[in-house]
Amino acid sequence: MSSNSGIQIPSRLPLLCTHDGVLLPGSTMRISVDTARNMQLVKSRLLKGTSLKSTIIGVIPNTRDPEHDSDELPSLHSIGTAGLAVQVVGSNWPKPHYTLLITGLCRFRVTKLLREKPFLVAEVEQLDKLEQYTEGDQADGELGELSQRFYQAAVQLVGMLDMSVPVVAKLRRLLDSLPKETLPDVLASMIRTSNKEKLQVLDAVDLEERFKKALPLLTRQIEGLKLLQKTRKLRPDDDKRVLAIRKGGVFPGRQFSLDEEGEDEDGDDTAVLEKKVKAAAMPEAALRVCLKELKRLKKMPESMPEYALTRNYLEMMVELPWSKSSKDCLDIRAARVLLDNDHYAMEKLKRRVLEYLAVRQLKSTLKGPILCFVGPPGVGKTSVGRSIARTLGREFHRIALGGVCDQSDIRGHRRTYVGSMPGRIINGLKTVGVNNPVFLLDEVDKLGKSLQGDPAAALLEVLDPEQNHSFTDHYLNVPFDLSQVLFIATANTTATIPPALLDRMEVLQVPGYTQEEKVEIAHRHLIPHQLEQHGLTPQQLQIPQDTTKDIISKYTREAGVRSLERKIGAICRAVAVKVAEGHKVSRAESPAEQHAEQNTENKEEGSGITAPPEMPIVIDPIAPLKAILGPPVFEMEVSERLTLPGVAIGLAWTPMGGEIMFVEASRMEGEGQLTLTGQLGDVMKESAHLAISWLRSNAKTYLLTNGSADPLEGTDIHLHFPAGAVTKDGPSAGVTIVTCLASLLSGRLVRSDVAMTGEITLRGLVLPVGGIKDKVLAAHRASLKRVIIPKRNEKDLEEIPPHVRADLDFVFASTLDEVLNAAFDGGFPAAVSHPQVVSKL
Ligand code: ADP
Repeated sequence: MSSNSGIQIPSRLPLLCTHDGVLLPGSTMRISVDTARNMQLVKSRLLKGTSLKSTIIGVIPNTRDPEHDSDELPSLHSIGTAGLAVQVVGSNWPKPHYTLLITGLCRFRVTKLLREKPFLVAEVEQLDKLEQYTEGDQADGELGELSQRFYQAAVQLVGMLDMSVPVVAKLRRLLDSLPKETLPDVLASMIRTSNKEKLQVLDAVDLEERFKKALPLLTRQIEGLKLLQKTRKLRPDDDKRVLAIRKGGVFPGRQFSLDEEGEDEDGDDTAVLEKKVKAAAMPEAALRVCLKELKRLKKMPESMPEYALTRNYLEMMVELPWSKSSKDCLDIRAARVLLDNDHYAMEKLKRRVLEYLAVRQLKSTLKGPILCFVGPPGVGKTSVGRSIARTLGREFHRIALGGVCDQSDIRGHRRTYVGSMPGRIINGLKTVGVNNPVFLLDEVDKLGKSLQGDPAAALLEVLDPEQNHSFTDHYLNVPFDLSQVLFIATANTTATIPPALLDRMEVLQVPGYTQEEKVEIAHRHLIPHQLEQHGLTPQQLQIPQDTTKDIISKYTREAGVRSLERKIGAICRAVAVKVAEGHKVSRAESPAEQHAEQNTENKEEGSGITAPPEMPIVIDPIAPLKAILGPPVFEMEVSERLTLPGVAIGLAWTPMGGEIMFVEASRMEGEGQLTLTGQLGDVMKESAHLAISWLRSNAKTYLLTNGSADPLEGTDIHLHFPAGAVTKDGPSAGVTIVTCLASLLSGRLVRSDVAMTGEITLRGLVLPVGGIKDKVLAAHRASLKRVIIPKRNEKDLEEIPPHVRADLDFVFASTLDEVLNAAFDGGFPAAVSHPQVVSKL
């Protein structure tokens, strides 16, 4: 052992036996210590020692002795590396152990084992005499040549790595500054080698042999890298990724797998995407974002979750119709014909739609109002929207807004969320593939509101012609021009449309249909349509007008025609069965004997299959209709219900159209209390109190006193509004309540063919109310004859079709006196000539 060398190890060394990994001089390694002997070594030597010498230990590799410490020692490897314990970390989890960071100094040979317990101590001989290397530099020919070759190979290897990585640059500098003789140890611990190979390098005490052992390993690594670079056609950015270097200058133990054929394809894929991006003709801002995302995508490994996100985003961007539009082919005359052909009646609506289209034709960049069709269900709002798209030759897309309560539904989710996607507007555009479709925003009155923001507010931006040329979906995050899209909205009522939204739309009321209109619609549109749907022809099935009328009045009660259409569908299905059965029978039997029978009687046989039916099958209003649709659902109960005093018919407006409503009252002994039932709102309850008060104050006038001064003395009154499950509110039932109570208190019957509506005041005046058209149509549907409405609503009658007006007798009332006089047969005479409360002043 040399005494003047740079590194001098003690002659007695405690030994650490490792079973994984080989420590070579010049490298640093982390060793986990958990066997009893080794733990003891750490505790009593490393942790207690204070001098530098006490931190030097001998590391003996590859000792298969993890468990059986107490047993006799297995044969130890005779050569080890003396190392400096740089760091000791202790932990109790999952079991007590230490982790040592050890830097290898030099080789030693175990000459004699001095002690086995509590830890191994041996007498050692230092093998690497480091001071000789620097002196005998490039001495012998063969060793010199070997070391030179080794050095060059090392330089070549490092040259293949990315110099911009700091560790690589440092390694390159180290190659020059380190003595060449240390290179085999240093590089063998860095490159990918097995423990066995490292052990061979460790055992090669002779320098020349060490070079010979390490050189093939180095060459193998270089070849491996070359192959990898060839197969991967490395892009400069990828070098870092492929050849990432572990901290401390050691190459990663990464397997250089060749199974990356997908990469090429992927490269092509992004290239295709890039081409698509460039071909999508998107505006400057969107293109810039796309190119940036594309650049990011190229750098990302496919396994990264963001890869899929970015890809989806780019695919969505290229599929959007940035500048693809369909050509408008608007001809107003043709549009008028088409609208007339598709829809019966709705004159006002069709007129307004034509005006709108005409203006669009004259001025192509129309920033016009958004049309909003408001009316009961089944009156054809959606189907008019569809017709408009057809007349314009545009794509049609319906966006159902009922129940939408999250603004991201309209505006999309930000791309940071997993599963984020664009809103319905952008999705709709992607579906239709052009930027000028007709979008029908269905049921805007049923937009909800929740913690996730107000979708109505998001719609504002969509519908505002001043803003929607730069509508920014959260997902896209770039503006999209919606100004070419034609928006049409539909709603059942304007009451629940947020005011700001309503302000941006032009409301077109689509009222319910009269019975005659329904009959016409049924025969012109619904029946032919249903026949076609069920594979029938008019030669097989005929529905006379009387039958249609019966279906309308006895089986449906609606403002629109949807359930009428369903009933016709039910008839078609029933007939289809008969027709199909008839085909079979007629093939088996001779048809000659059957033609004598009357068509209509034929149908009463129900499902009898004895004879094929006579064609066409005519649906008689009486028997077959009952057989197919069951007993009538709605009976005209009006006259039956008005056989007792204390019942009157009111008219109510609902989003489903107008309806007639019975108000019933009864009296019983009590203390003058008023009970109200039928789910009434506050306003309606107040109307009831108003009515009672007015009657009490005018009881004398109308002789309702019942002997005492107060007609309610000793009596309780119960007012009920049937259809108890439906919530009702509004002031317009005022006159009906007064009439009903007047009937109850006077004991006289209200005329059974009178319906009424109107708000009342405490002084007995009748104030105007809304929804007159729907209410009058409802009265007409119910075959009532007289309708009492407030005088100030007289102007509203203009909207009502003339034939309905002709059928009804209108009474315009401005005071309750007039209402009562019109509601009772023979009037409702007052004792004093003027029933108004006389002023005491
Ligand atoms: P809404 O959108 O108002 O609820 P739809 O547009 O869905 O109603 O109409 C329901 C059905 O009634 C459709 O098949 C439609 O063709 C038909 N319909 C409604 N009104 C008319 C009409 N005036 N003329 C012809 N068909 C009509």
